[in-house]
Amino acid sequence: MRIVMKFGGTSVGDIDRIKNIAKKVKKSFDSGNEICVVVSAMSGVTNQLIDYVEQASPNYDPREYDAIVSSGEKVTSGLLALCLQEIGIKSRSFAGWQAGIETDGANSKARITNVNAKQITDYMENGGVAVVAGFQGINIETNRITTLGRGGSDTSAVALAVGVNAGRCDIYTDVDGVYTTDPRIVSDAKKIDVISFEEMLELASLGSKVLQPRSVEIAMSHNMELQVLNSFEDKPGTIIKNEDENMEKQNVRGITAQKDEAQITISGIKDKPGVVANVFEPISNANINVDMIIQTTSVDGETTDITFTVSEKDTDLAIRELKKAKDKINYNSLKSDKNIAKLSVVGIGMRSHSGISQTMFKTLAEKGINIKDIATSEIKISVLIESDYVELAIRALHSSYNLEK
Ligand code: ASP
Ligand code: MG
Repeated sequence: MRIVMKFGGTSVGDIDRIKNIAKKVKKSFDSGNEICVVVSAMSGVTNQLIDYVEQASPNYDPREYDAIVSSGEKVTSGLLALCLQEIGIKSRSFAGWQAGIETDGANSKARITNVNAKQITDYMENGGVAVVAGFQGINIETNRITTLGRGGSDTSAVALAVGVNAGRCDIYTDVDGVYTTDPRIVSDAKKIDVISFEEMLELASLGSKVLQPRSVEIAMSHNMELQVLNSFEDKPGTIIKNEDENMEKQNVRGITAQKDEAQITISGIKDKPGVVANVFEPISNANINVDMIIQTTSVDGETTDITFTVSEKDTDLAIRELKKAKDKINYNSLKSDKNIAKLSVVGIGMRSHSGISQTMFKTLAEKGINIKDIATSEIKISVLIESDYVELAIRALHSSYNLEK
């Protein structure tokens, strides 16, 4: 089978670990697989490089940022190719651009637009193990190196797997797979054996850090089976694939939370057509993503309040923009609260089971946790609560939904 194997930062954290990965790759290669490896930078390296960039230039040119931070992955790819050569495997490294990974021009958060996988495919067909530097690509129009956002090597791996038409993409990391919730919070959290693309996409987008959400999106749209597994052990991990009937039997698959949310409330705006548009115009012009929005019904028929969430790091900018637009929006007061978290339960079983939201609300009520806002989709329920209660809430919900069984 043709397999893409991706190794994260801790799996390639030092030379001994890289040698160990080389042995893993050799074992799979010797059993007859064609292999393309995608690597992250050695753990800590990307952060260090970003720190250098910020020291050199606080308002840095993002094109140079990408030239610099993409170098971590190049180091690892060369080192792994050398370690493979040392144990008798034909191997060479490829930077993202050499592997044909083309992106748009959004430096530091580029999206892959095309994978020209001929070089890699030829190399594998000629008996070599291709080692590709993750996290990066090239914008053909500008001839500039780009990076894919933090955690972007997952996306490189999945896009390459699609490009070389692999049978599966294995993402090796330092945990055993995807868990029902963060095992550091709930000690009896369980490793999930199989999860659907849709559930994984929700979990990844709503706070679980195992996979970059974009990588799951690509896998889902090309039906590329993924496996998340531990690089330090020899056992199966979590398979991520298209849903089947069995998956619906479980009503909730996992619980996740995001603490980096903040809430902004604008009070005393006139209740008339166009005000909501006025509120969000400066926000969207500043490229700030808005998540949950509630507009309270006006009691007097004249004025209303709007509350919405943004990520914590965008809060100050949002406030500044709203203050600038005060005359146009015409509000009384503006408040923000960073002590807010979004807590979500996810499962495709929600489509066919009822009472799942009621269990959530009841469990939180029993713990005295106040719900500030609720959002639902077909397969998830999210609530906003005070950050301080997140761990307590996750533990209580994990047991209410019997996820430890
Ligand atoms: N090295 C990059 C990061 O730390 C990309 C990755 O590891 O996936 O974000
Ligand atoms: Mg990662």
